[in-house]
Amino acid sequence: MEKAVNQRPLTELQEALSEQLPPLSAHEAVVEANRCLYCYDAPCTQACPTHIDIPRFIKKIATGNVLGSAKTILEANFLGATCARVCPVQELCEGACVLGSDHKPIQIGRLQRYATDYVYQQKTEVFKAGAPTGRKVAVVGSGPAGISCAAELAKLGHSVTLFEKRELAGGLSTYGIIVLREPVEVALSEVEALKRLGVEVRTKMELGKNLSFDELRTKFDAVFLGLGLGAVPAMGIPGEEHIQDGLEWIEASKMKPLDTIKAGDNVVVVGAGNTAIDAATIAKRLGAERVTMVYRRTEAEMTAYPHEYQFARLEGIDYRFLTQPVRVVTDRGKVVGLECIRMKLGAPDASGRPAPEPVPGSEFVLPADQIIKAIGQEKPALVKELGLEAEKGYIRVNHDFATSIPGVYAGGDCVRAKGTASTVMAVQDGKLAAKSIHSALVAKGAAND
Ligand SMILES: Cc1cc2nc3c(=O)[nH]c(=O)nc-3n(C[C@H](O)[C@H](O)[C@H](O)COP(=O)(O)OP(=O)(O)OC[C@H]3O[C@@H](n4cnc5c(N)ncnc54)[C@H](O)[C@@H]3O)c2cc1C
Ligand code: SF4
Repeated sequence: MEKAVNQRPLTELQEALSEQLPPLSAHEAVVEANRCLYCYDAPCTQACPTHIDIPRFIKKIATGNVLGSAKTILEANFLGATCARVCPVQELCEGACVLGSDHKPIQIGRLQRYATDYVYQQKTEVFKAGAPTGRKVAVVGSGPAGISCAAELAKLGHSVTLFEKRELAGGLSTYGIIVLREPVEVALSEVEALKRLGVEVRTKMELGKNLSFDELRTKFDAVFLGLGLGAVPAMGIPGEEHIQDGLEWIEASKMKPLDTIKAGDNVVVVGAGNTAIDAATIAKRLGAERVTMVYRRTEAEMTAYPHEYQFARLEGIDYRFLTQPVRVVTDRGKVVGLECIRMKLGAPDASGRPAPEPVPGSEFVLPADQIIKAIGQEKPALVKELGLEAEKGYIRVNHDFATSIPGVYAGGDCVRAKGTASTVMAVQDGKLAAKSIHSALVAKGAAND
């Protein structure tokens, strides 16, 4: 559990958790940009879910037009600075780079960061709000999906109000993605850019609590829901109250002074996805002697990206595969271990992966003084309450990102019934939803003429 004070100096802790990759210098960026072959029908662009014209932005860096480069990126992806840091580039653009087979792929993510950071450091405006259309759109949720949708609508001249339940806008980019990958300031600078486009950002406004759905639907011409997902689900085992929520653990590492957070000496993280790796990395870097990740299936079924798994290994994080927690062991109210049972793989389950089955009598106790769960997120809670049709618990949308309620659209993690949830996919959803909303509003305007 979280202890009172971390004994290490604050500067040392900040250093341990600071952004992993340094920025490219101007010279390094130009040298790297000049390695690009500027491929026709570039595979890197095709692999990018937001289809950034990658050879074009790289060429502009090579010719010293950094602002133009940033513009190329941000036109396709308003959250280019976030995506430059958090995208699994090994699986996307860099993984598709033709230079990857024989040489090193172009460092597309770092070049993108170089160009977009330039814009935010220079405080240069890249976009202007469009000529006012007189139409009003409400966007609920200020994560990548909501911000992307709001920005595209503002560029088209619609009056946009963005409602967010938390104190700060930015969604998981602000609260959930570890600082090693993305500092909070980067996410917040994108929110500021959105405000400069004329979008009104209203925080501490929660749909279903102090924000009424009916009122939104009557006061606005369209509504976009970018609600993301919920908390980490309960594990349903005895002693659950002693288990820390992985998202809260990560959030504390971003929001609290680091010398007030202390990892246990012996930390067990339940789960083996990317969030679990992030939670484990934070624990290790905050001083845990031993961090063990526990997963009921095997390495082959892990949902974490291979490069993340590799990273965790290099951090010195241990794995216990085919292991299922059954009970938290405490002594005088303090966590001393996690009782687990060994598993074996059986026939495939509904997900198509082999179902883990307990091996009778194989219980054992893993010593632990801190247990963190990172076993995914609950489905969006409001689906039923708002009367929306659902698909596997997510909000059902059609190809235009329209929900079952007329005038209400949705995108991002809250609609991701299929495929992997990621920032760049949420950005693309928001962008495409904005196009659909715009077309519908234009058509509505024409019909009323
Ligand atoms: C720990 C962690 C690490 C991750 N790391 C990466 C990564 O490295 N790379 C990557 O590509 N993806 C990563 N992801 C996934 C990525 O963060 C998400 O796919 C992305 O943030 C989804 O964007 P979104 O806008 O749909 O939702 P979110 O970012 O979750 O934003 C939803 C917003 O809606 C708000 N909201 C919810 N309900 C209401 C309501 N009723 N009223 C008002 N506001 C509401 C929330 O407060 C939140 O701000 C990570 C996820 C987690 C949990
Ligand atoms: S695939 Fe590689 S070399 Fe070709 S344009 Fe993209 S980054 Fe440049």
